[in-house]
Amino acid sequence: MSPTSARVIAVDTYDVRFPTSRDLDGSDAMNPDPDYSAAYVVLRTDADDGLEGHGFTFTIGRGNDVQVAAIESLRHHVIGRSVEELCADPGTLNRDLIGDSQLRWLGPEKGVMHMAIGAVVNALWDLAAKRARKPLWRFLADAEPRWLVAQVDFRYIADAITPEEALELLRSGRHGAAERESLLREHGYPGYTTSPGWLGYSDEKLTRLARQAVADGFTQIKLKVGADLADDVRRCRTARQAIGPGIRMAIDANQRWNIGEAVQWTRALAEFDPYWVEEPTSPDDVLGHAAIREAVAPVKVATGEHVQNRIVFKQLLQAGAIDVLQIDAARVGGVNENLAILLLAAKFGIPVCPHAGGVGLCELVQHLSMFDYVALTGTTENRVIEYVDHLHDHFVDPVVLRDGHYLAPTAPGFSAAMRAESLAEYTYPGGAFWAADLAQGKGAAA
Ligand SMILES: [Mg+2]
Repeated sequence: MSPTSARVIAVDTYDVRFPTSRDLDGSDAMNPDPDYSAAYVVLRTDADDGLEGHGFTFTIGRGNDVQVAAIESLRHHVIGRSVEELCADPGTLNRDLIGDSQLRWLGPEKGVMHMAIGAVVNALWDLAAKRARKPLWRFLADAEPRWLVAQVDFRYIADAITPEEALELLRSGRHGAAERESLLREHGYPGYTTSPGWLGYSDEKLTRLARQAVADGFTQIKLKVGADLADDVRRCRTARQAIGPGIRMAIDANQRWNIGEAVQWTRALAEFDPYWVEEPTSPDDVLGHAAIREAVAPVKVATGEHVQNRIVFKQLLQAGAIDVLQIDAARVGGVNENLAILLLAAKFGIPVCPHAGGVGLCELVQHLSMFDYVALTGTTENRVIEYVDHLHDHFVDPVVLRDGHYLAPTAPGFSAAMRAESLAEYTYPGGAFWAADLAQGKGAAA
């Protein structure tokens, strides 16, 4: 098949679940028993190059039933399309998927359908970057500013950033890009770790992992809070003693509180010098975040992993509601919408510290921060990518950390591909692990 006539011939989905609830990995105030899962999609083509586009969104356990079905409902938009045309302009597919009038009713541009769109769009970006033989961060950083602007849907955000302003930001972001690219290759991008701070861990495990984080070169850790104040006071004191005064400690309530509670609780923990309080309340409550921010300063307010689209991010910025913006690679409508959000953050001068962890979110989102550093904001100051030490061995091109920094990926694509052995083991319910588990009557994910 000649490269110009190649078509997408399959959109294959996989329901992948890991039994993480058994060790309380990932436990927080709102998710006491998470089985970390991925609704995983592979775009296959009839091109001779054998390349595939891989994408996924992160869910928890039974949520994957719904998420996989949502991805399958998009299949007809992709099958039969020209690979060359899609890769030359992923924004076209993004707009087609968002514009499906029968599915749009389920959002618009939020929730399960939007996450499904993100998975498919990200799979296309993976394929496009592979065809260009570049890791996605470099594919984006090398792209013409005008082309990047055309990838962004400015509908509903043009009051906050115009295409002309975005173009200017991207053009000025190119100054010094080559130098930053070599710095990035040498030193990587700073990360911080949440691994010590899961709610279900003992104080001994918290202390051991917090000390380990500092020894590993991290300059920030994060603790889950919000279930019990007396416990949180003890855990924050324990963690602060373990890391000393010079290391940043963020706290994360995973949406647990009302506004007044968020203020009281954060103030009660202020003596341990938290750097930011994350997801203090509903991710939809723009004005609530603004009120919390005003009341808990100098503790910063961070949110974004459950912010459903660029429009809510726009409002958070317009309302002065956040100090730290936390993009998620697999929550919104894929790379195109995250470009919009990165541009909004750059315009408002708010640092982006991505959410990661889950299944493969570190692998994905590192590319977006690295692009931002090389070719948009040009800085890593007060910027860190979340790191969670889970499940990386299931990926073909896992993240590599050195001295608390994410090393720049070199393999072409979006680092999204999972290992075939992992798919065979953890696909639900037929994979080897779950088949054996269900036969024993455990069925933790059921
Ligand atoms: Mg969080």
